[in-house]
Amino acid sequence: MSNHMFSAIRAAITSDSAVLIETADGSVWTYGDMLALSGRLASTLVAPGAKPGDRVAVQVEKSPQAFMLYLACLRAGLVYLPLNTAYTLTELDYFVGDAEPRVVIGSPRAAEGIRKLAESHGALFETLDEHGGGTLTEKAAKADKEFADVARGPDDLAAILYTSGTTGRSKGAMLSHDNLLSNALTLREYWRFTSSDRLIHALPIYHTHGLFVAGNVILTSGASMFFLPKFDAGQILSLMSRATSMMGVPTFYVRLLQHPGLDREIAAGMRLFVSGSAPLLADTHRDFRERTGHAILERYGMTETNMNTSNPYSGERTAGTVGLPLPGVELRVVDPEGGSTMPTGQTGMIEVRGPNVFKGYWRMPEKTRAEFREDGFFITGDLGTIDARGYVTIVGRGKDLVISGGFNIYPKEVETEIDQLPGVVESAVIGLPHPDFGEGVTAIVVRQKGADLDERTVVASLSDTLARYKQPKRVIFVDELPRNTMGKVQKNVLRETYNKLYH
Ligand code: ATP
Ligand code: MG
Repeated sequence: MSNHMFSAIRAAITSDSAVLIETADGSVWTYGDMLALSGRLASTLVAPGAKPGDRVAVQVEKSPQAFMLYLACLRAGLVYLPLNTAYTLTELDYFVGDAEPRVVIGSPRAAEGIRKLAESHGALFETLDEHGGGTLTEKAAKADKEFADVARGPDDLAAILYTSGTTGRSKGAMLSHDNLLSNALTLREYWRFTSSDRLIHALPIYHTHGLFVAGNVILTSGASMFFLPKFDAGQILSLMSRATSMMGVPTFYVRLLQHPGLDREIAAGMRLFVSGSAPLLADTHRDFRERTGHAILERYGMTETNMNTSNPYSGERTAGTVGLPLPGVELRVVDPEGGSTMPTGQTGMIEVRGPNVFKGYWRMPEKTRAEFREDGFFITGDLGTIDARGYVTIVGRGKDLVISGGFNIYPKEVETEIDQLPGVVESAVIGLPHPDFGEGVTAIVVRQKGADLDERTVVASLSDTLARYKQPKRVIFVDELPRNTMGKVQKNVLRETYNKLYH
């Protein structure tokens, strides 16, 4: 048996001297360098006794070495477990206690705290800094670069990724070698990646978007990427003429549009801009197309399922939709209660099935059982519709549904109306505890600078377009919506902040 995922990566290598990574300071990592360093790191990890199936928890800044660490784990049959760099020690304690890793790798900046924490959970500890230095790479420099890849089958675990925690406590999604490989190959074909591609990679690598969507598509194409520590509009524009593609969250596109340097000429050599992880506003799609001539390709996925849908490569990329189910992915919209399929165009729960769907939540068998139907479909928790052409639109999360006076209100419908009002940048509609209605529809709105817009005008402007029960009872103006690092609006934070509004 070969190593399911890493063999596919090896097979895509065109030559050892082909470039895999170029960093902002011009350092280059070839595929040959990748094989050597991932080999050394794998040798280092197994030396003290880490066995296939053991977890390796990693909370470090983005660097080429951190990316090689993921590949080392694949090769050694270890389960890679990346953690958001924003997590505090208290949060880390939960993840390390839950995952019981054999090794914890952390930033030297917080080394003392993490070392103690790792040791209290019986794990070994190594450091890796943002420049690739630390005890891990010091040991790796002396370790053998020849490492025989451990045999791994399609169903063996490759990684545990914790969900973003937008709707509650993060859950560890168990992803197999084939969950990753099948999706990478599907996306490679669908988005037409080849070894000539060079991707602008400014996403974090502790999340499925930057690690698997971007990372695995590049690796399985034998392509290369500009590996940037964080999003910087000026830096991205300066690299664009040497790149072919970019993957980003919606805020990347909003911020690129705010930069005067974005125009047709600078983006002329690019063939693809992909957006995902949070909804892309139709306005952003339109503005980007006007400025650059490129229609951003929006896709939809989640930690548990990898990517489910995508707008087409050639064919219409419809703003506000997440496109069509990817080849091999079955997607249906059902009545959340009865489970029957909804008619075309009607809102229901999105469920998916396919080789992309995870193996279950780590050590949460009941939660896993509750989120799967008997026929193997995974209940995503997202509400949506499918139109007559098969395009999927996400209407919001089931948990964000507002129930007021016994009526269901889909926040997206109200947000779309508010966003169209003159003077509005964007909005978030939430339900807050209300003594008469159960929940009161509440709009949190960001105004354009200098816009003359007050609560009464917003409510009055909606009276013709929305049924009375959908109209916000209160409108609150804020400078910006709370977002996490992936650009997701944190409605739970808003609900907490304004919890007492009607009491
Ligand atoms: P948690 O499950 O812990 O509450 P999360 O669902 O935000 O967190 P992720 O797995 O990072 O964690 O995000 C997946 C979710 O992101 C999807 O379920 C969906 O709600 C949202 N999403 C992803 N892509 C899009 C998109 N293109 N448009 C709208 N929503 C999207
Ligand atoms: Mg989720």
